[in-house]
Amino acid sequence: MTTTTDPARYRSLGDHNWQDQAVCHPSEYNPVDPEMFFPGPDETEKIATALSLCGQCPVRLACLDAALEGNETHGIRGGLTQEERQPLHEKLAKRLDYARVNATLAGRDIHLTKAERRAVVLAGYRQGVTVERLAWLLKISEEHALKLLRETRRAIRNRELQQAARTGQTAGADRNRLERDAFGTAA
Ligand code: SF4
Repeated sequence: MTTTTDPARYRSLGDHNWQDQAVCHPSEYNPVDPEMFFPGPDETEKIATALSLCGQCPVRLACLDAALEGNETHGIRGGLTQEERQPLHEKLAKRLDYARVNATLAGRDIHLTKAERRAVVLAGYRQGVTVERLAWLLKISEEHALKLLRETRRAIRNRELQQAARTGQTAGADRNRLERDAFGTAA
């Protein structure tokens, strides 16, 4: 799990500007053959050359992210062969990268997994984001954002009540906090 908080490495949704910096981006001055990144399994020299170019590429992580999000399972992307990338594709749905969560909360437009979206709601609730802000961050309706925040509040309350019951403590402090927040009637 990544914990870096620097959001700079993440591209925005639909942002292809990073491709301009790609080492494999062919141009008049950089005549790279794109086919090199689609080698056969036994073309070891071709694979090594392509991976070497990826190793010098300043947008390798953005490239890998784009490949995973776009389900590009063929060819070399982000410094990994398709065989090396396969486990990442399989694990993608469960990815929970808090750097991506934090970057989203900071306003970056990032393609999130379901687990990361849930983490944004939880962290947003704890940070006191407004319904409007959460709706904007997740590109959902305000009604949906309100529902998510209420569900989060309910889950936290239930967990804390269970903990209080286990330890014999009252949940007065929790109830006071719940009464203070701005998400309407507790469900
Ligand atoms: S990491 Fe490799 S495949 Fe991706 S843009 Fe850079 S050179 Fe091209």
